Amino acid sequence: MTALTHLNEEETLFRDTVRRFAREEIGPLVRAMDEAAVFDKKLLHQLFELGLMGIEIPEQYGGQGGNFFQCVLAIEEISAVDPSAGVVVDVQNTIVNNAIIRWGSDAQKARYLPRLAATTVGSYALSEAGSGSDAFALSTTAKQNGDRYLLNGRKLWISNAAEAGFFVLFANADPAAGYRGITAFLVERDFAGFRVGKKEDKLGVRASSTCELILDNCEVPVENILGERGKGYKIAIETLNEGRIAIGAQMTGLAQGALGHAVKYARERKQFGKPIAEFQGVRFDLARMATELEAARLLVYNAARLRDAGLPFVQEAAMAKYYAADMAEKVASKAVEIHGGVGITKDYPVEKLYRDAKIGRIYEGTGNIQLLTIAKKLLG
Ligand SMILES: Cc1cc2nc3c(=O)[nH]c(=O)nc-3n(C[C@H](O)[C@H](O)[C@H](O)COP(=O)(O)OP(=O)(O)OC[C@H]3O[C@@H](n4cnc5c(N)ncnc54)[C@H](O)[C@@H]3O)c2cc1C
Repeated sequence: MTALTHLNEEETLFRDTVRRFAREEIGPLVRAMDEAAVFDKKLLHQLFELGLMGIEIPEQYGGQGGNFFQCVLAIEEISAVDPSAGVVVDVQNTIVNNAIIRWGSDAQKARYLPRLAATTVGSYALSEAGSGSDAFALSTTAKQNGDRYLLNGRKLWISNAAEAGFFVLFANADPAAGYRGITAFLVERDFAGFRVGKKEDKLGVRASSTCELILDNCEVPVENILGERGKGYKIAIETLNEGRIAIGAQMTGLAQGALGHAVKYARERKQFGKPIAEFQGVRFDLARMATELEAARLLVYNAARLRDAGLPFVQEAAMAKYYAADMAEKVASKAVEIHGGVGITKDYPVEKLYRDAKIGRIYEGTGNIQLLTIAKKLLG
């Protein structure tokens, strides 16, 4: 079977389990988590218990021994109910765990993977106030001092940092060498000189914390360099290339959620004596939403399956993220319109999905940055 959306038995079982969990366990918490802008602790615990925070971590380290495509399925299903919970599962699996599995030494894997699979939230800290799209202009420094590095600087916009116990953090160990000084460090929350700072009050994905990190002579042992000194830029690029596929999955899930609510409402709501689903204008809107959603899903699944097959996927990942984020914003917006006035209220879930959609075009490379990647592949 070669159809991209055809799931084998194992994938179907996995997707259905996550779907049921998302609807039954996450669903009832969504509104309160969004309003309080706090991630439910019990839910976090359940995500670990179900193995959803260590999908690709090998079984020898307590993970599920799954693949990237399963991460995509999980993120999609969870985001259909709550894109904030999608961020938590996304960053943990497709960026943090992924980086350790790929570049970690045996000792680093043995030390950190069992924790990441079972109890510890991981964050990925690249961005700073002065370096977003231009990520390698980062100004956090790392100076060697005997058997440790002293890190100084501030990170901004770090997802899930309020809950995290572990950080893959980028600093420049040789600023004179420019981006070739950028080095990835594994930082534990209780390392001396490390502090989580202000939490942002956001438009969307509010239950996923987004915080500043403060490094004030933060002491990191030399053995906590991930990969090689000066090769952090490569780790950052390559993990983000993969992470982008997962943001595509988050946006696809979000749009699926919004479409589902719109279909249900269109069948129930009556105007002019009949359900609004019987008006051609509404039917065409729903049909267009479903078509664009399917196109995004195909891009996302294709990029994920290419990645799992060890084939080139960078352009496909950028296209998937770019298109899915654009599509999610449009589909969520239409879903609000199909609800009419109640779509704007917090009594219906589409208002939140509409707010949550906006971030898709910003993090892990803005829409323009994806277009730059695609154009570079096209034009050299
Ligand atoms: C909720 C949230 C969670 C985040 N989580 C994380 C995280 O966990 N870890 C992390 O490291 N970072 C994280 N980020 C940071 C995120 O990746 C950056 O915000 C993003 O890369 C954009 O950077 P910026 O905000 O500095 O915008 P800028 O780079 O200043 O961009 C501003 C505008 O200029 C455009 N632009 C910039 N350069 C170009 C160019 N060359 N060509 C055309 N247009 C251009 C952009 O497309 C954008 O529209 C998060 C951000 C948010 C908001």
